[in-house]
Amino acid sequence: MHAIAKVMHVSKDGDYRRINIQQNAALEIQQIAGVYNQMISSLGERDQRLRGQRDLLETEVALRTSELIQARDAALEANRHKSEFLANITHELRTPLQSILGYTELIKETLEDECIEDCDDDVEKITRNAQHLLTLINSILDIAKIEAGKMEVKHQLINLGELVNDAAATVKPLVDNNNNQLLINAASIKELVYIDEQKVFQILLNLLSNAAKFTSNGTVSVDVVITNMVLKITVRDTGIGISEEQQKLIFEPFRQVDGSESRKFVGTGLGLSIVIRLTELLDGKVELSSKIDVGSSFTVTIPLGQQSASVLSNDSASG
Ligand code: ADP
Repeated sequence: MHAIAKVMHVSKDGDYRRINIQQNAALEIQQIAGVYNQMISSLGERDQRLRGQRDLLETEVALRTSELIQARDAALEANRHKSEFLANITHELRTPLQSILGYTELIKETLEDECIEDCDDDVEKITRNAQHLLTLINSILDIAKIEAGKMEVKHQLINLGELVNDAAATVKPLVDNNNNQLLINAASIKELVYIDEQKVFQILLNLLSNAAKFTSNGTVSVDVVITNMVLKITVRDTGIGISEEQQKLIFEPFRQVDGSESRKFVGTGLGLSIVIRLTELLDGKVELSSKIDVGSSFTVTIPLGQQSASVLSNDSASG
């Protein structure tokens, strides 16, 4: 009996052993040992089957993983080709377009010199359309560059107040066109900071031009503050607003609330995706709160680097 208990004890941990039945053992013991041996055999067979199924599963998982890796690599490669293609084609498109703009300017000057005013409107239309096309091409180039990982961050010492005023001046015609009022909160934007000027300008410009575009007879305001070494830009408008459902989608490239061909507002659907990507490149984030028919508020927060800290502390020491 002691020997049987010992075999059972070892088998408990998975090392299945059979009991050698002694011919002279009591019948009851022989029966117990017989049933036990049958149980051990079926447990062994079951384990064997489970091991087989596990091996099969592992092979399938390995196979699927390698297929997925191949698919992912192919998708990444295709995306890289797409970004390269976009970067090249937009470059090719920009060059002749800049030449059209240049020659139109020459024609304008010649007409002015000759005092011919009949074609003024037509020449103006050529310039406006070519400018629009150039903006579009530049946006596509920006997206392609960011996606291809070719957009570099270049920090430089800039006057934030001037940058905000420049962006406001650029969108002023659009603001006026829709009979809007532009408010700039300049209280704390006199600082010099180290930041990527071009990217912050582009972010501001895109948000301001959207605010001006989607607002009529209302107000567009921009607030810029620096607190605890974080730059916070808020662009608010009292325009048409964006539904909660659309708020989740509009940061994707080419997304517009009204994407139909007959839509009221012109645009490419690239402005906000450029804003979010540029902000992320600067380690910042974009927040949006909006209500239909009430207005929208876009807030961009960007952490300022160590270099800005020394400039800002010198500023406050001297000021
Ligand atoms: P675009 O303005 O060229 O269409 P954007 O990416 O800048 O592209 O914006 C995407 C969409 O988000 C816009 O088409 C518009 O529907 C919505 N949107 C963006 N900004 C505003 C805003 N300030 N007010 C209302 N809708 C907005």
